[in-house]
Amino acid sequence: GATIGILGGGQLGRMTAMAARSMGYDVHVLDPDPDCSAKPVASRVVTARFDDPSAAIDLAKGCDVVTLEIEQIAPTVMEAVAQHAPLRPGAAPIWIIQDRVRQKDWLAEHAFPVGEFRHAESADDVKAAVQALGACIVKAAHGGYDGRGQAHVTQAADAAKAWEAVGARRSVVEQRLDLALEFSVLVARRADGQMAVYPPARNHHSSGVLAWSVLPADVPKEVARTGAEIALGIAEGLEIVGLLAVELFVTTDGRVLVNELAPRPHNTYHASERACATSQFEQLVRAVCGLPLGAPTLVSAGAIANLLGDLWLADAPPDVAGALDVATARVHLYGKRSAREGRKMGHLSAIGQSGPEALGRALDAYDAFRPGACPAIERPRG
Ligand code: ATP
Ligand code: MG
Ligand code: MG
Repeated sequence: GATIGILGGGQLGRMTAMAARSMGYDVHVLDPDPDCSAKPVASRVVTARFDDPSAAIDLAKGCDVVTLEIEQIAPTVMEAVAQHAPLRPGAAPIWIIQDRVRQKDWLAEHAFPVGEFRHAESADDVKAAVQALGACIVKAAHGGYDGRGQAHVTQAADAAKAWEAVGARRSVVEQRLDLALEFSVLVARRADGQMAVYPPARNHHSSGVLAWSVLPADVPKEVARTGAEIALGIAEGLEIVGLLAVELFVTTDGRVLVNELAPRPHNTYHASERACATSQFEQLVRAVCGLPLGAPTLVSAGAIANLLGDLWLADAPPDVAGALDVATARVHLYGKRSAREGRKMGHLSAIGQSGPEALGRALDAYDAFRPGACPAIERPRG
């Protein structure tokens, strides 16, 4: 049978590997951690960093196609892989997306709506940005996720502090927007240009980390249509082969803006495993293997709540049985060896007749799961 290579063996690689295995593929994974999440599902784990071309060549030589679950992969590695197996999505879109400065510039140059931003290569640049834009968020060009590598700055006098806290050579400085809500749109695209767009997911973040997500998003039709058009336009413009998740903001003054892009499966579409005819993981396999894309349509409303390491670091253990006693609830654990504060260890999912019902159940399951000392996740307003 055919073999799929995955750069990255975290939870996204693990769940992609599970889908690929179900479809009859063999899976080889490259990850720096020999005990990575995807290990039990992969038939081979190449243990190496994402800037090691020789290890990547070793992986690619045994694969028919190579995809990825992270975008921080050295360009030399992407080039090396591409000489031995098709790399999907390609090196060109990953190179743009993996750098926030390049990504933001690309979006603005191609007339996709983004909030106001400036480039910064010094504390003085941050100061000038804050003087021009008001309260801002400084985001490192490389490597940030779950809100890491970012600092808020409200006044010009604090620019140097924020610059040092981020500790990057290059950053974007974004105007801090007043958000009405956040949503995302996932697109799958094949090499021949055929695309499928998922219904929008509504997302809630807490301290920069996704807390819950619900499918479908309760946004006006017009907002959903705008989001889908934007996501399809970006996937086409970047010639993505695989998946593209677009994170979007609706501001309190009604603007729909792109926050950032992810060229891979996305935490905000974990509910697609239960809510959609085709899960995002199966869809990635289909897209990169040139199989027919599956229907992205909803078969139910669905929601997820993330389980962070904090839940395992509390005095009492989490109550798995209590969570599973909630109607339709399921638990999805990523098999990570050690819990750390803020680390994504798994998620809970639930389905329902409506988004609010599915989300209510996922959050009820979360409340049952969490040890007493851990705070509840914020529920949607209204
Ligand atoms: P991810 O884990 O999604 O990769 P990240 O670390 O790349 O996250 P962002 O998506 O840039 O971080 O920001 C995390 C969250 O912070 C956003 O989802 C949003 O809630 C908030 N945020 C980011 N940028 C802005 C902004 N310009 N104005 C207001 N809120 C923002
Ligand atoms: Mg990000
Ligand atoms: Mg984000």
